[in-house]
Amino acid sequence: MARYTGPVCRLCRAQSLKLFLKGERCFTPRCAIERRKSPPGDKSIMQRRRRVSEHGMQLREKQKARNIYGVLEKQFRKYLEKAARSRDVTGTMLMQLLERRLDNVVYRLGFSDSRAQARQTVRHGHIKINGRRASIPSYQVRQGDVVTWRDQSKETGLFKNVSAGLERKNPPNWLKLNPDVASGEVISLPEPDEIDSGVDTRLIVEFYSRR
Ligand code: SF4
Repeated sequence: MARYTGPVCRLCRAQSLKLFLKGERCFTPRCAIERRKSPPGDKSIMQRRRRVSEHGMQLREKQKARNIYGVLEKQFRKYLEKAARSRDVTGTMLMQLLERRLDNVVYRLGFSDSRAQARQTVRHGHIKINGRRASIPSYQVRQGDVVTWRDQSKETGLFKNVSAGLERKNPPNWLKLNPDVASGEVISLPEPDEIDSGVDTRLIVEFYSRR
């Protein structure tokens, strides 16, 4: 399945939930959810569809997680299978795998306004891990990894914008940000209570266990 390239606010409206896919705009009254509460589509059809089946809720939750992290179905399923093989609780491990993606870490550190922008920043080769260029957004960070900007990238307008706002960023406890040099360290792997995505992993695990 191809990556969704349509208007991202539509994804939030379909879920009737803020997924924070558009950076700063999500925190302003210009957010589409703030302006139009109803889901997209024909209103008469939507009114008839008020009752959502259990399977519908599971599907919605899975789509929500995929949209938040910008992960394709095939890759998402791989994360689920990997999580199911681990000794930890499947849902907890699934969220940890999603959070450990490099694009998510770049976003969490405040090096970008959204995960989509973070993905592009990584793909364009602006980011280094432990001193080596890393251009794969799905790279799984490990405890002790240090995430920095490439020296050449520090000359760009993108970096100047980012570094100007780093003092105000507040990354989760499992990441340590040094705003003076625009670097971040993975000091531990994320615990469930440090992941604020609002995803009900139980529904996702149930969705895949039926298939
Ligand atoms: Fe979702 Fe952000 Fe668009 Fe609001 S502005 S609808 S939170 S992507």
